[in-house]
Amino acid sequence: MSVSHFPSHDPLALAPEDCGRGHACQFCPDEATCQLEKGHHEKQLIESRLARIGQIIMVMANKGGVGKSTVSANVAAGLAARGYRVGIADADIHGPNQSRFFGFVGERVRIDKRGLGPRAFRTESIDHPIQVGSLAFMMESDDTPIVWRDAYKHDFMHHLIGSFDWGPLDFLVIDMPPGTGNELITLADMLEGHDVAALLATTPQEVALMDSLKAVRFCQERGMPLLGVVENMAGVTCPHCGGEFHLFPRSHLAAALAEVGVESLAQIPLSPALASGSDAGRPIVLDAPHGPEARAFMPAVEACIAHASETFAAAAADSLQALSQHPSMSDEQSGELEAALASVPDDQRDALRAELGALLGAGSLPNNDDASR
Ligand code: ADP
Repeated sequence: MSVSHFPSHDPLALAPEDCGRGHACQFCPDEATCQLEKGHHEKQLIESRLARIGQIIMVMANKGGVGKSTVSANVAAGLAARGYRVGIADADIHGPNQSRFFGFVGERVRIDKRGLGPRAFRTESIDHPIQVGSLAFMMESDDTPIVWRDAYKHDFMHHLIGSFDWGPLDFLVIDMPPGTGNELITLADMLEGHDVAALLATTPQEVALMDSLKAVRFCQERGMPLLGVVENMAGVTCPHCGGEFHLFPRSHLAAALAEVGVESLAQIPLSPALASGSDAGRPIVLDAPHGPEARAFMPAVEACIAHASETFAAAAADSLQALSQHPSMSDEQSGELEAALASVPDDQRDALRAELGALLGAGSLPNNDDASR
């Protein structure tokens, strides 16, 4: 063991040489013989992906089967319908259903120098395809069970963010596994310092509520903003008489959440159309945008947009403040401002750029979007 307090490498030396491949070493044909520093490569991959992602939304549930994947898929679809560039990262290792919910069952991942290619979900009503990344694309077949110890799960969380070639995104929605275990801790650690907020999915029952409160506490203890709760399977409309009833008693869910300072954002009905849309790979929010299910999802979508806008406004204010203390903008500051601008939705970016430019008395700020794509 070294007793020196000095780092063993020269801190002024250039960063270690990189292979330039956009995927983790585990996917590399040269892994066995490669002499480059692998830890650095992985860290750099994750940071370079995250630098191009605006707001991250973690969809959590402390219980399985409450509709967390359904909520993730439809919130992602709702954001895409509003014109944002959206990705969905399927972190539910034991039930990677996003491949099904977006119609990619049986598809396998393609690897090139830029990384693992997410599948692009396209439909007429969205301007930008939804980028879907899932473990399902890497399995031998769709019924292969995942029997992994924690170390593999930990690695996969790194691949999910760092090895998939997400490109520039306004929102990355992460479909978390149920519970507050290894995957959640790994991702929360990895994403520390980035714009991450949580959405909680639950059914209105007492038993799911108790579990949800544990997830609430996790977010509060980690200092992760919790946008609110999506109550799934909250009410059914009888297909025969049109009458509404509640399959699961709502118990005192809303009151209990309010007590811990959490808002109930949306109530999603239990609906055959929603279930069959998911099975068929067509998120109902895009397939039937004016139906009751799509409308029910909208407050959750709006909450994500509102949070991202607030986060951006705060980042822009900070950048402006920093800039105001320096009469001439350095490259670093300009980069910071551009990073903040990259997290703004397309339709607002040009107006904001012009506004900031006017504030700085410099005319419009240069548009670096094309260079970053
Ligand atoms: P989780 O991710 O929490 O395990 P899923 O989203 O996979 O749950 O949902 C479990 C099953 O219930 C899926 O088959 C899904 O299509 C169905 N489902 C979820 N929410 C609803 C709903 N509101 N109405 C009808 N079916 C639903």
